[in-house]
Amino acid sequence: MDKQSLVIANWKMNPTSLKEVEHLSSSLKPEIEKAQGVETVICPPFVYLKDLLANNSDKFIFGAQDCFWEEKGAFTGEISPSMLKELGCQYVIVGHSERRKYFQETDEVVSRKLKAVLKVRLKPVLCIGEEARDAFDSSGKPLNEMSLAVGQQLEKDLSGISSVKIGEIVIAYEPVWAIGTGIPCQPDDAMKAALFIKKILTKLYSRSIAEKTRIIYGGSVNSQNASDYVKGARMDGLLVGGASLNASEFARIISVVSQ
Ligand code: PEP
Repeated sequence: MDKQSLVIANWKMNPTSLKEVEHLSSSLKPEIEKAQGVETVICPPFVYLKDLLANNSDKFIFGAQDCFWEEKGAFTGEISPSMLKELGCQYVIVGHSERRKYFQETDEVVSRKLKAVLKVRLKPVLCIGEEARDAFDSSGKPLNEMSLAVGQQLEKDLSGISSVKIGEIVIAYEPVWAIGTGIPCQPDDAMKAALFIKKILTKLYSRSIAEKTRIIYGGSVNSQNASDYVKGARMDGLLVGGASLNASEFARIISVVSQ
């Protein structure tokens, strides 16, 4: 089992110039290079990957924010997992809620992408999470909202993927209501969601796969609350959006997780 915490930066469609990208990555360099016990993965827009890979040490790990499910062919505008692999990416985010919302990605689409990523032995970061807030009752018991959404997404997204092929999948529990809103999920509730995800993985695969699969949290993470998820709620890491674009804030998150 990987004991390192995983901290993934999702830059989304930012920054808008290579100059800013270089400034952001060079500002992060000292923290990324000295961090112990944390694997930091930067997921920039596709167009910056080549420069970033060429100009950074092997302490920098890169991922993509999406990919297509086919390997090559007449699919205008798309990028395949093997292209990302060839470039030197190690991770690919699949099924982010913004892809599901703005690009109508269904679980069937997410599942095809997952299979394509696993086929070339990249590590998929599968994002799942419920839309509505208050997914837990006052005693902390998951309400239908969370368990239904997360259970259904998991079962559909993983359908047809055998335990042999599951590889180093990472599951990001990202309640949609917590993404970019400044309203994070309570760490205890994130931990309950992680336990629920492990239960489903045990049902679909086995206990040992459930135990070794990394389950990370994403949704309004910042340097003040990062430790509550990783140290407190014992999540295996974080998926960070907005705060990853602020070099000093993201460096503090890495530092807090690595202590
Ligand atoms: C995300 O985009 O996956 C995310 C978690 O964003 P934020 O940290 O801004 O909520």
